[in-house]
Amino acid sequence: MAESGSDPLVIRKLEFIGGMAAADGWRPESELPEVAFAGRSNVGKSSLLNTLVRRKAFARVSRTPGRTREINFFRVNSHFVLADLPGYGYAKISKEKKADWKPLIEGYLRHTATLAGVVQLLDIRRDPSDDDIQMLDYLAELELPTVAVLTKLDKVSRLEADRRAGEIMRSLSLLKEQVILFSAATGEGRDELAEAVASLVDITRSGSQ
Ligand code: GDP
Repeated sequence: MAESGSDPLVIRKLEFIGGMAAADGWRPESELPEVAFAGRSNVGKSSLLNTLVRRKAFARVSRTPGRTREINFFRVNSHFVLADLPGYGYAKISKEKKADWKPLIEGYLRHTATLAGVVQLLDIRRDPSDDDIQMLDYLAELELPTVAVLTKLDKVSRLEADRRAGEIMRSLSLLKEQVILFSAATGEGRDELAEAVASLVDITRSGSQ
């Protein structure tokens, strides 16, 4: 884990650049590499993003009424774009509404040529849902580099965390190198995640030059 003072992702500038509401709708022009963050509602995505960038921007923007079902784009340090995908699979939403996210998210994933990779969030305490499995299958089909973050680490003991991580990795065929254990409450895993995001961005940039 990186020590403070060698933060792999120092955020000097963070700008909200807009939201994409439909698969064929507006989106920011894509020149910079993009990293997208996905997960079911309540998995801890806003908390993770606020911890990652060390500010509360996401809580403000992504919870604005009307924005919760959109893909929200942020430009980071004029260096890359962070795409906050809408949380899927919220239990209180009716079945027809539940599938709403699919064309938007899948269209975005398929058609973003500059997409460097996806950070997929999973609650460490829960078995992956059908939607989680479908997302990961889709990412594999598109051959998109994927980092899996197991959230809410502070809610389980160390022993339980290791057991759960092993189970989740086995059930989803994830490699150990792809998985980060994370807690927004304690900040554990923040620097490891920052490093993973920075290397996704840098691999893409050096590949495109
Ligand atoms: P989102 O819907 O995926 O954006 O999830 P939120 O970030 O809003 O988090 C959902 C709930 O889980 C909130 O009550 C958070 O306070 C809580 N939460 C998120 N991350 C953590 C964490 O790392 N530890 C604990 N204990 N609670 C968390």
